[in-house]
Amino acid sequence: MLSNFKVVLVETSHPGNIGAVARAMKNMGMDQLRLVTPKFFPHADATARASGADDVLRSAQVYESLVEAIKDCQIVLGASARDRTISWPSVTARECAEKWANDASRENIALVFGRENSGLKNHELDLCHYLLRIPCNPAYSSLNLAAAVQVVCYELYVTSGQEHVSSIGDRGEDPLATAEQMEAFYQHLQQTMADIGFLHPERSKSIMRRLRRLFNRTQLDTKELDILRGILRFSQNHNLK
Ligand code: SAH
Repeated sequence: MLSNFKVVLVETSHPGNIGAVARAMKNMGMDQLRLVTPKFFPHADATARASGADDVLRSAQVYESLVEAIKDCQIVLGASARDRTISWPSVTARECAEKWANDASRENIALVFGRENSGLKNHELDLCHYLLRIPCNPAYSSLNLAAAVQVVCYELYVTSGQEHVSSIGDRGEDPLATAEQMEAFYQHLQQTMADIGFLHPERSKSIMRRLRRLFNRTQLDTKELDILRGILRFSQNHNLK
């Protein structure tokens, strides 16, 4: 979990946006939400838009000021759509993820998002170490609050490597095949192809190299390897009959 990242919303006007932010965070495995003087909270619209992420809403902390909300954070980033007149160090959402989502030191990092109608004020940005930018169409650069949170949390999620856990599907139950198991499989495959008269010894080297490349790309787990070896055994037996 990216629990050292705290999403801080400053004076949000529409409670529905707070709910949508909770949902966006939970989708990306985040749950640390802080609200600075929200106009309406708790609110039925927030719960409705959270749509299953009410646990994130329920655990949200409400603060009287931004200073209070970021007190325990070592790094503070202020998300802003606008180019500011003051020059301030800035990072994109992706750079932020690359810089801190893999950071083993686990400092508390505040991601501060501004008001729907007027963003963050300069005195609030003064409290931030960096501006946080989502690159987008310069002629129309202001995202909806929850959409902005979504993009930032997505970048953190992907960079922290958590997407591998869910993208593997039913992988993970069985360990990946070892090099030794793969070698035994290649020998079995080569032998079977020779037994069934598919592989001419002269061509075997280049075909085996191509097949190795193919299987290297897929990274077989032990169950998948068992299935393939079962097929090989079956075709060898069948061929002998
Ligand atoms: N109209 C406001 C923008 C409000 S959008 C303004 O002029 O600043 C609400 C919040 O979403 C912003 O305060 C900012 O924190 C975040 N946000 C929206 N678009 C963004 C972008 N392109 N980059 C970074 N943050 C953005």
